[in-house]
Amino acid sequence: MGNKVVLVLSDALRYDTAVASMGFLGHLVEVNKANLYKVIGELPSISRPMYETVHTGVPVIEHGVVSNQVVRRSEVPNIFQAARDAGKTTAAAAYYWFSELYNRAPFDPIDDREVDDESLLIQHGRFYVEDAYPDAELFAIAGALVRKFEPEYLLVHPMGMDDFGHKYGADSKEYRIHAIRQDMILSNLIPEWMERGYNILVTGDHGMNADGMHGGTTPDVREVPLFLIRPGVPGEGDTGEIVSHLQLAPTVCKLLGIPIPETMKQPSIV
Ligand SMILES: [Zn+2]
Repeated sequence: MGNKVVLVLSDALRYDTAVASMGFLGHLVEVNKANLYKVIGELPSISRPMYETVHTGVPVIEHGVVSNQVVRRSEVPNIFQAARDAGKTTAAAAYYWFSELYNRAPFDPIDDREVDDESLLIQHGRFYVEDAYPDAELFAIAGALVRKFEPEYLLVHPMGMDDFGHKYGADSKEYRIHAIRQDMILSNLIPEWMERGYNILVTGDHGMNADGMHGGTTPDVREVPLFLIRPGVPGEGDTGEIVSHLQLAPTVCKLLGIPIPETMKQPSIV
């Protein structure tokens, strides 16, 4: 028990929307079962560069995944590699760009969709290609990966907030309602994961603006939440602390109880 992590990286989940609309996570904060931090996201506030930043703790200009059009595997130490090299089991239910970053590029939608292979960095991978892939299905797959393989590191990456945000803008009932739906889905998974001894992080890669876009530098696209749940460790509620995206990778490594690669220079949050 203890050295296991689920990272829920909700694509385009804004800080203010998460705090206002995610009542179960808010409950955990209110009863001191979770810590809430505000993350100032790295730039640019774009998906593929942030997937790599979150998993390497390295800024974009150093890891080189500068845009969504850079289709290649990661070239710097990352959470999946560090965990596998330490003998841990890794898994992901995620968009196919994660398969390209850590397993194989370019993505073959048939061969690479579902993998169970200990030699891969993401050993148990379930990947989707449609931005409108339903979050309810994605989270159910994540729940199944936990029950089947009990991976020490599991990435859960739903695209719903991003999809609704691009279609309707962040100042829309569709975007806000979807945050409530994600929170309801999580409320049915988090207690089981806590029971199984998982540390759980819920955060975002970037936010979303009212125009239905992200990529710039303003708080709406830059500020994302970090909810941190640690079974057996008393929570602190809303910490009021501001942390950096660059701290997520070393934090996950520390929670996994594995060596933190030297390239992850920012301090762990825990
Ligand atoms: Zn997007």
